[in-house]
Amino acid sequence: MLRLTKKENTVNINFDIYLINRSNTDVNLFILASSIKKQIESVYSGKFSSLELTTIATIKPIYKHQLRLLYNNLVIAISDHVTNDNVAEADFGGLLIKLNPKHIDSINSGKNKRTIAHELGHILGLDHPHANAKFESVNTAASLLEQNITNEEKKYNLMCQGWYIQKANIDLNDALVLTENQIIVILENYFSKKLNKNYSLAKGIFNYKWIGKI
Ligand SMILES: [Zn+2]
Repeated sequence: MLRLTKKENTVNINFDIYLINRSNTDVNLFILASSIKKQIESVYSGKFSSLELTTIATIKPIYKHQLRLLYNNLVIAISDHVTNDNVAEADFGGLLIKLNPKHIDSINSGKNKRTIAHELGHILGLDHPHANAKFESVNTAASLLEQNITNEEKKYNLMCQGWYIQKANIDLNDALVLTENQIIVILENYFSKKLNKNYSLAKGIFNYKWIGKI
């Protein structure tokens, strides 16, 4: 689960995340957990115009997981079933991030500082500020606050897709910024209960089951 508090101009986010491996690749979950914690806490902290953001991420690696334990919790699952063999994907406003095992080394080495933080943005209900496959465009499906993000801001924005940042000729690791607008969207999403939605695990009478291919 993620929890959010706001006191005057300070916003605190707490992420409690289980890290599991569903792929056929051997992964040291403890090393990856500490890399992910570092990535999340460095991106989701700092001053965003008038708002100060602080974040604590607790990443719990589990090797033998019971679905009962994961139910209604935030999960990062290393999975061989990421759509189109992308780096990762996330449930919008949901509880699951799927991570492609091919990219674990680059996350551990710090070469990739962006993927988990970007996917977590979707978990927080943030959309891409640009339209699909269109440079310097507006995503009309996003909230009005996100539509107001300027093209200049987009070049460095965490929630733009990788191809967009590359097209703007910016290093992916220099595009980790959120705008104050996006922090406000996160707050609105949380306090109107649009987050922590369970799309990934179903609870039956006798057991728990993944929804879709994890
Ligand atoms: Zn995305």
